[in-house]
Amino acid sequence: MTENEPIQRLLDLSRNLSLSLDLEPFLQQVLSAASELTSSEVASVLEVEESGGQFRFLAVPWFHRDALKSVRVPVKGSIAGWVYQNVKPALVADVPADGRHFKGADQAAEFVTRSLAAVPIVYKGETLGVLEAVNKTGSAHYTEDDLTILETLASQAAVVLQNARLMERVQKSLNEMAQLDKMKADFIAIASHELRTPLGLILGHSTFLREVITDEHKSQLDIIVRNAMRLKEIVDNMANMDNVQRGMASLRSRSVSIKRVIEEVMDTFHDEAREKRVTLRVEIKPEDILIEGDAAKIAIALSNLVKNAIVFTDSGGHVLVAAEQIPGYVKVSVMDDGIGIPARDLPHIFERFYQVESHLTRRHGGMGLGLSVARVMVEMHGGRIWAESVEGKGSNFTFILPHESDQAAAPDGAFHKSL
Ligand code: ADP
Repeated sequence: MTENEPIQRLLDLSRNLSLSLDLEPFLQQVLSAASELTSSEVASVLEVEESGGQFRFLAVPWFHRDALKSVRVPVKGSIAGWVYQNVKPALVADVPADGRHFKGADQAAEFVTRSLAAVPIVYKGETLGVLEAVNKTGSAHYTEDDLTILETLASQAAVVLQNARLMERVQKSLNEMAQLDKMKADFIAIASHELRTPLGLILGHSTFLREVITDEHKSQLDIIVRNAMRLKEIVDNMANMDNVQRGMASLRSRSVSIKRVIEEVMDTFHDEAREKRVTLRVEIKPEDILIEGDAAKIAIALSNLVKNAIVFTDSGGHVLVAAEQIPGYVKVSVMDDGIGIPARDLPHIFERFYQVESHLTRRHGGMGLGLSVARVMVEMHGGRIWAESVEGKGSNFTFILPHESDQAAAPDGAFHKSL
């Protein structure tokens, strides 16, 4: 080995370090550099397990891989453990004579460890494992120079090891999130399914009773009907979301009169708006617009927007629903002069379960599903939906749907600022 060879080798390795994302190939390079540069028979990387009580062999030469795969080295009762606990290197010239030596690995690999040099693998003060070079060739002993080489290699291994750990944690969090998402979806499916039938019965019977009961008790039944209707809206949103998630939602496309959809939706909100003293207004230019689409789904999207506009607008406020034809699309806007949405929340409001106020403190009902359902309904038509809002001033929710004379997809980017 020339004098510069170790330095060259270490330099090559650190260049690879920045390219290396895969733990295993990089650690194999570390092992071969460690054994060659320190003239050792073998080298290995031991990683401490999460419990902290034992090591596993993270990287060993291929011919020891199978034998050492399931071997665990105790932290208390091994030279590697001593290095790990003391965060200090160890040079051991006569391993069999050293009381700290753990014989289990030698036995499993049918190997005899005579001498070793070991250094801790430390990343930002945290010891992640141990790098060992074993059996100095010939009758030579390990030296301080060997330790310097191993320490340099260990510091590079530390970076890669830490990256791998972070990746593992990220992956774990992603899996947990996917799991949670599934649980939410299952909950929605079960709850919406189980609530539908009893709710339908409550609504049916109370509506019937309201017709036949004396005036004296009508107002009580009105309360029951109104609140059951509110529950129905929530359950409907849950069921719609569930259908979409299961891929069971499909468009029943026919010619749809936008004017009629708007009028029918507005009809369902007249009482609510009047009670709250919120003025509803409709503007359609030109008189009517016909598109190819699913009237029921467009009505769901619009209902959710109008409902929010009324809910989040104080008494005395105004809600305007406007529709107009723009090139290739029909554009429907629901504008209010209500409480508005803080800028930091605006990018998230179309996410499932997102609510601006915490559900514990908020004054309004709902599950944070209305807007995500509206978005899905609009996107199923090849349309787009977005919101603009100024806190304290009001909100403007707009969706566009392809017009039947031009079914091209909504232009990308044209509205991205607000999406
Ligand atoms: P929810 O059914 O719980 O209201 P949505 O998905 O319909 O859920 O709305 C999400 C959040 O967006 C609401 O919690 C509310 O804070 C906010 N939001 C929606 N529409 C309006 C609006 N017109 N004005 C103010 N805030 C709104």
